[in-house]
Amino acid sequence: MTTGKINVSVENIFPLIKKFLYNDHEIFLRELVSNATDATLKLKHLTSIGDAKIEYCNPIIEIKADKEGKKLHIIDQGLGMTAEEVEKYINQIAFSGAEEFLEKYKDTAKDSGIIGHFGLGFYSAFMVASKVEIITKSYKDEPAAHWSCDGSPEFTLEPSDKTERGTEIILHIADDSLEFLEDYKINELLTKYNKFMPIPIKFGTKKEQKAFGVGEEEKMEEVEVDNFINNPNPAWTKQPVDLTDEDYKNFYHELYPMQFEEPLFNIHLNVDYPFNLTGILYFPKMSADIQMQKDKIQLYQNQVFVTDNVEGIVPEFLVMLKGVIDSPDIPLNVSRSGLQADNNVKKISNYITRKVADKLKSLFTENREDFEKKWNDIKIVLEYGMLSEPKFYEKAGDFVLYPSVDGKYYTLAELKEAIAANQTDKNGKTVVLYASNKEAQHSYIEIAKEKGYEVLLLDSPIVSHLIQKLESDNDNLAFVRVDSDHIDKLIQKEETQISKLSEEESTQLKTVVEEIIPKANYSVQLEAMDSSAAPFIITQPEFMRRMKEMSQTGGGGMFGMGNFPEMYNLVVNTNSELATTILTTSDKSVQEGLVKQALDLAKISQGLLKGEELTAFVKRSFELIK
Ligand code: ADP
Ligand code: MG
Repeated sequence: MTTGKINVSVENIFPLIKKFLYNDHEIFLRELVSNATDATLKLKHLTSIGDAKIEYCNPIIEIKADKEGKKLHIIDQGLGMTAEEVEKYINQIAFSGAEEFLEKYKDTAKDSGIIGHFGLGFYSAFMVASKVEIITKSYKDEPAAHWSCDGSPEFTLEPSDKTERGTEIILHIADDSLEFLEDYKINELLTKYNKFMPIPIKFGTKKEQKAFGVGEEEKMEEVEVDNFINNPNPAWTKQPVDLTDEDYKNFYHELYPMQFEEPLFNIHLNVDYPFNLTGILYFPKMSADIQMQKDKIQLYQNQVFVTDNVEGIVPEFLVMLKGVIDSPDIPLNVSRSGLQADNNVKKISNYITRKVADKLKSLFTENREDFEKKWNDIKIVLEYGMLSEPKFYEKAGDFVLYPSVDGKYYTLAELKEAIAANQTDKNGKTVVLYASNKEAQHSYIEIAKEKGYEVLLLDSPIVSHLIQKLESDNDNLAFVRVDSDHIDKLIQKEETQISKLSEEESTQLKTVVEEIIPKANYSVQLEAMDSSAAPFIITQPEFMRRMKEMSQTGGGGMFGMGNFPEMYNLVVNTNSELATTILTTSDKSVQEGLVKQALDLAKISQGLLKGEELTAFVKRSFELIK
């Protein structure tokens, strides 16, 4: 038997490991199963190139919990180690890795972004174990070795009588970590970290119904079978040509067993140059309530789960997607800012953006009707992408849609062409009319449609930002919400209405109205419109409203405008009969009643009449009809 001291300069490194990685004790199992997997894959490789003169025979990894003995066993049938290799890989190299890590990050313990992603490797076993044993037999014709260490830098190494090839790690679970001996806990960890690892992982047994006999004689009986945790060949490791739509859907449910909705479509990622990355992203049905998102994209490295925080790796607008990304080229032991500065990570992020844009384009061209049906569920992601990712914005013209209130879908180019002739303002700009709410803006939409104008329905919360961007990139385009200004003023038509009132009468009318309504909130404007149009119309200037919306949905401080005053236009139709009545009524109180009633009716159309004012209005209206 050999005894010795592990090559270590920090005497009390084990307590340090334990304390330091306080939150991540559970990763020990991931690390040990990863090592077992590596050892098995190495053996596979050696047998395939004919170096190991043995049969590969589909080895498995087994986890066994011994609650009474307070021991956890991780057993593999991989290539094993000779005593010399244990000395080298466990006592020297592995330990120096752990030590280096601790040295480097001692002062940044608070930066959990680092810790969560760092594989401490073999020594992470000491986070949960007071003593660790390795019993291992190499595929080479050499005696088995038995290594043991109780957490102090001293270890023992002696021969063992193990005869089968492979390695068994025995953890003597510490008293404060006994939960790691519970079946539910082990199942939970294996499912979280090892669900898609490439070597079958067995943990305990399960009951299964099995048919015995044939025909009439057939009987179902419950049998005890090995319980395997993982799917060693998950969909993302296969080639797209080998997968059907059904396979993609099944894999989605395998990833998110609690998710019952079907994904809308998927994007298979597959690159090996200049970086290595595979994966499948799914577009789920998305509501405006982005916060609801709880199933996230999972990041793997060689089929080992690492994290579901892909911030910085996946472009921000796509973090609402679901699925997996598997890449060995993403550095994990760096901070978030380190990630963003990493060249590979930048390339990966750009690649994902490009793939998503390409996929959207092909969905649009291959089956436009279907794409239009899905539009409502994906628009928020796409609109957000246009705002946040210049590379995505460049491609968006090919597939981003602008629906009308009547369910017609245009691309921007199609829209421009459709409305150019009919909707132009006095500066020669093409006016895109839109509504943000079909119900609330119903009367305004109707007026616009009657005049033969197309009205879009743009109802995402970030649409004012998007419009702003589209206008700044398309000189000839102006977006105006249907209730922003009255239509006739907005869109220059050849026949301009002539006012029935003289200039003097107009001034008089304006004065009368201004005296009655609250001046601070309304700017009175007289317009000669169709006599059948509403006598009073409230509009809110597009610019004011949009700035207000933008300040509410982010980018607020950017304009330095703080709170916006509630300022509206009150447009009085001088050609309406009511205008004449108001003007010619000599009874001051009747005149006031008419103006107030008309203002309230205009407010109702804008959804602005509430509370006390609404109560007063209802009361006044009953008075009028009694
Ligand atoms: P890493 O896996 O990153 O190399 P670890 O600390 O996890 O670092 O492991 C150190 C080394 O110990 C491995 O590289 C390997 O050579 C050896 N080793 C660990 N576990 C096993 C095992 N189950 N079978 C064979 N060798 C192993
Ligand atoms: Mg390892």
